[in-house]
Amino acid sequence: MSNIKFDVLTADHLHFDKVTLQPVHAGWLSSNGVALDVLRLDRLHPVISGNKWFKLQFYLQQATQYGAGNVATFGGAYSNHIVAAAFACHLLQIPCTGFIRGEATATPSHTLLQAQSYGMQLQYVSREAYKNKDAIQRQYPEYYWIPEGGYGFTGARGAAGILQLVTNIEKYTHIIAATGTGTMLAGIISAINTGKQVVGVSAMKGNYALHQQVAKLLPVGHPAHFDILHDYHFGGYGKHPAPLMEYIRQCWQQYQLPLDIVYTGKAFFATEQLILSHTIPSGSDVLFIHSGGLQGNLSLPAGTLPFS
Ligand SMILES: *Cc1c(COP(=O)(O)O)cnc(C)c1O
Repeated sequence: MSNIKFDVLTADHLHFDKVTLQPVHAGWLSSNGVALDVLRLDRLHPVISGNKWFKLQFYLQQATQYGAGNVATFGGAYSNHIVAAAFACHLLQIPCTGFIRGEATATPSHTLLQAQSYGMQLQYVSREAYKNKDAIQRQYPEYYWIPEGGYGFTGARGAAGILQLVTNIEKYTHIIAATGTGTMLAGIISAINTGKQVVGVSAMKGNYALHQQVAKLLPVGHPAHFDILHDYHFGGYGKHPAPLMEYIRQCWQQYQLPLDIVYTGKAFFATEQLILSHTIPSGSDVLFIHSGGLQGNLSLPAGTLPFS
């Protein structure tokens, strides 16, 4: 964060002081001899929350260094990345364009309306054309392009900074995080020594390429061992059936932990299951990364969840 504009953004807009380690107290932890702390990255900022700031920072720094007249990126109608990019560009006063998968609808998602309110130009792209993002990028060579979801080395390098917020990182035996593109997970893995188990919980159904996607972003020769779990998608990306909603309500009532419906609710559920099944053994110290995403809950009807 050496760039001057970024220092301004950091000091004025991001709440690093609010990012705490929240210990979770629950019967399923004490009876299994496991300790669990949640890194509350969601508290960094209500819009550029969680991992999004970290993943975007070096892309945006480059965009300002190159003097880019326009930043552009890709995402779906419920993309936290789109909103975060829109808001960051708004703060940095860089015009930006979001290329959105699918046709425009009469009632755009809350996410897209929010992105638009921060000045992002939305350009809808048919699902067919969206598959060939390179072709779209070639039409606008003057733009500074951030890959979909911030995926790439630049994004992972930013995400590596997440663990700097954890003072006592040595003590943890396991780090668990929700996973979309795998960029955050790659950053986390590259920032730690071996000897810790890193577990990514995929928010998508059957996205088996994810392991390779993470591996591609690791430094050459990194002796990483990590696991990706594919069984906690609750029906697929963006799906939030009643049992997941009920679980999220319970987590709020029991631990005052607000979780999002796309990523962290599923990953926290997976964490509990891993502990209950002794896959994470007694004596373990688990760090769960709350990667944010709570703005996505705003797409639910008001009052659906007991927090917002
Ligand atoms: C975007 C997002 C993720 C996924 O991060 P990747 O780096 O794409 O794997 C996880 N959790 C939340 C809350 C997110 O918004």
